[in-house]
Amino acid sequence: MEDPRARIVIIGGGPGGYEAALVAAQLGAQVTVVDRDGLGGACVLTDCVPSKTLIATSEMMAALEGSAGLGIRYRSGGVAAATVDAPRLYSRVLALARAQSGDVAGRLAAERVEVRSGAGRLVGPRTVAVGDAKVSADIVLVATGARPRVLPDAVPDGERILTARQLYDLHELPPELIVVGSGVTGAEFASAYQALGSQVTLVSSRDRVLPSEDADAAMVVEDVFRRRGMTVLGRSRAASAKATGDGVTVTLEDGRTVRGSHCLLTVGMVPNTGGLGLAEAGITLDRGGFIPVDRVSRTSASGIYAAGDCTGVQMLASVAAMQGRIAMWHSLGEAVQPLRLSHVAMTVFTEPEIATVGVSQRAVEAGEADALVVKLPLATNARAKMQGFRDGFVKLFARRSSGMVLGGVVVAPRASELILGVSLAVEQHLTVDEIAHTFAVYPSLSGSITEAARRLMQPSEEDLI
Ligand SMILES: Cc1cc2nc3c(=O)[nH]c(=O)nc-3n(C[C@H](O)[C@H](O)[C@H](O)COP(=O)(O)OP(=O)(O)OC[C@H]3O[C@@H](n4cnc5c(N)ncnc54)[C@H](O)[C@@H]3O)c2cc1C
Repeated sequence: MEDPRARIVIIGGGPGGYEAALVAAQLGAQVTVVDRDGLGGACVLTDCVPSKTLIATSEMMAALEGSAGLGIRYRSGGVAAATVDAPRLYSRVLALARAQSGDVAGRLAAERVEVRSGAGRLVGPRTVAVGDAKVSADIVLVATGARPRVLPDAVPDGERILTARQLYDLHELPPELIVVGSGVTGAEFASAYQALGSQVTLVSSRDRVLPSEDADAAMVVEDVFRRRGMTVLGRSRAASAKATGDGVTVTLEDGRTVRGSHCLLTVGMVPNTGGLGLAEAGITLDRGGFIPVDRVSRTSASGIYAAGDCTGVQMLASVAAMQGRIAMWHSLGEAVQPLRLSHVAMTVFTEPEIATVGVSQRAVEAGEADALVVKLPLATNARAKMQGFRDGFVKLFARRSSGMVLGGVVVAPRASELILGVSLAVEQHLTVDEIAHTFAVYPSLSGSITEAARRLMQPSEEDLI
């Protein structure tokens, strides 16, 4: 007798794919995930998980660096002389990524999701080929991710000129690292390697680093970078990178050259949408090669959904996962809330971190949101003083008419954890009065969030920006 369950085939086993698979299996569908490079996707194996594991070590190095100011004296040969054991660090990073991939495999197996290894492509309506085998489906989800963009005259060789995915194959810490690109990925690696002990030069094509982030937050991070000895080259676009035996030379568009031991390219991502049979299935890609989708992850072809980086909607693991889940809820007839990008919380994992949610100051200044804005420097927060840091702030946006919290920015160590309070407020439409009446621990950094809300209840001119 034919299996009455809905048949779902998912191409790609990253967060867009595997989170969808879990939802679909829990809803009783028969699910197959086709993956080429390993479950967990680039997120787990090469991007998110490895980079944040590396950053865990760099945070420890930064803490050691700052510990003298907290009254710690070193014996000779003690922590002051700490250096990074690069092979050990990289093998920890890779082992952790493999273990995380194994966890994903375990969760899929527990939900009886079938996993096929290999490259999948659409052949005919709702049929996916994997090698010579064909799998038919009622619903197909494409979640094939993206890969690092490279420059025509800066071709990665995996030794001197690298993408972020090749860092962990090195045998040493780059003594002089040139990071090309000052977006989120570039800033995170520049920050991490500077703390790990590399001499870093950050090549930024714009006036300041992190051009898409809150300008005040980016300024704090750039100040910290420079104070810690990083060379930040603003308005400097890299034209080429050439390996020179024991090093690399990056030539800028204005003819200047920068020498280093290694060059890391972080100049964007391109979607993995070639060779998937999408055109034949009736899907026209956008100009960047991404798959256009609506807010419930539908493509223009009936029965074919897409999620994650291959859609270019917002390149975050959390967004990929949500798009994948929404696709399954929608296709399997469940009630579903369309994707709301205005509520996405995100973090730049520099030192200090920048975490944001909801409306931005740019939107307020452009008149897109009628909001009052208050910004409290962390230098006045008792806990921050105790812990010995002063770079950072809490910024809160509230609707002028009702006091409803519309968003916030936190720049602090572990801002990624602190932003949840603001996220909850945005998601649950809480007002500044409600936040102000919420107990925060004393002393705590989160106390600055409730304090910012209190200031917004009766704002004085000097509080507002
Ligand atoms: C250095 C770096 C750090 C990042 N850090 C963070 C972070 O801290 N937080 C965050 O939220 N986001 C982070 N991101 C972004 C995050 O990694 C992506 O948004 C996320 O991986 C997208 O998930 P996905 O499922 O769309 O794709 P992926 O994770 O790329 O998975 C796609 C999978 O599909 C497979 N595939 C491709 N083509 C085929 C095919 N034809 N057949 C079968 N399988 C195929 C791929 O091999 C891969 O396994 C980071 C990105 C980078 C580059």
